[in-house]
Amino acid sequence: QNIKHFRPTKAIINLDAIKHNVNQLKEYLNPGVQIMAVVKANAYGHGDIEVAAAAIEAGATVLAVATPEEALHLREAYRDIDILILGYVPVSFAPLAAVENITLTVFSTDWVEQVNTLTFKHPLKVHIKVDTGMGRIGVTNLEDLQNLYHEIVLSEKLLVDGIFTHFATADEEDETYFLHQVTKFEEFLRSLPKRPRLVHAANTATMLVKDQTLQYDAVRFGISMYGLAPSAYVKTKLPFPLQPAFSLETELIEVKEVQAGQSIGYGAAFTASEPSFIGTIPIGYADGLIRKYSGQHVLIDGVRVPIIGRICMDQCMLLLPIAYNIGKKVTLIGKQEDEEITIDEWAKKGDTINYEVPCIITSRVPRIYY
Ligand code: PLP
Repeated sequence: QNIKHFRPTKAIINLDAIKHNVNQLKEYLNPGVQIMAVVKANAYGHGDIEVAAAAIEAGATVLAVATPEEALHLREAYRDIDILILGYVPVSFAPLAAVENITLTVFSTDWVEQVNTLTFKHPLKVHIKVDTGMGRIGVTNLEDLQNLYHEIVLSEKLLVDGIFTHFATADEEDETYFLHQVTKFEEFLRSLPKRPRLVHAANTATMLVKDQTLQYDAVRFGISMYGLAPSAYVKTKLPFPLQPAFSLETELIEVKEVQAGQSIGYGAAFTASEPSFIGTIPIGYADGLIRKYSGQHVLIDGVRVPIIGRICMDQCMLLLPIAYNIGKKVTLIGKQEDEEITIDEWAKKGDTINYEVPCIITSRVPRIYY
């Protein structure tokens, strides 16, 4: 373990789980389909450099991120791998992207025209984004796609390397909207004079539970690379088992006995109804343990124990069944003996999706790898 970390609160990332999930996917893909490891947002909170290493080792050939900063951070560590920025990039980043061989997403002729006025030597690879129903970024009609495509082809500075779209409802059982997006994407593809090298559309849900022809040339493997299902529906249909990679642990730093009627924490929001043992753990909302999680269980000795009262900035309190010793291990996410507390369970408590849970565990919580 890393001796720089004195505070016992740690996220433990199992890189073998990442490799397992990529390996399982590889078996399932059509021959020649490339895996883009989606490692944006610090690899969904798991740590971009380390997750990328595991994903590349297991067979991913492209790293997909959201921002220039994320791309540059990965480029420093990996000189040769293809890196694609899926999101908007300001024109001013284009020259550096070309030098660093970072592929950009484009969806506006204005953007191309502005890039054409800049001076830079290398050709800059781009993927065209088409909006088939997500309504977020991308060209929305055939005419705009034609114009954009021709602007790029005419530009000496840019090279069309790919085209892609993103599905809004791939994780849902009802396929109406999804199929409407597929039809639109196919129309966009047919309208191009030449099919770009990499056509891609599938996020995790699409590749796992939809028609396998939608894998096209590459799939964007996000949430299930981390061992999580994109939705409750997809969870029931998974073609192979997933291994979650993220655990969260800490230790009891104080244990006290309180009498019936005694209150705990801000707002005195919890009051003991009988003599009780209260444990304090060093993790709070500044670590990403938002106040909405109050009441969520954690594990001690394989036993479920609730967080009580309001979660503080740096600490929170547990209602213990017995007077455990200080230093006792507490698992917030992960397994102890026969019990497991999953990210999905935290997401339910927080009225959110599993994606958000590790993403919002802040950088104050060190990520430890094994
Ligand atoms: N592609 C794009 C454009 C995305 O924005 C995302 C995630 O938000 C993904 C792929 C990965 O999605 P998932 O994690 O559901 O696989």
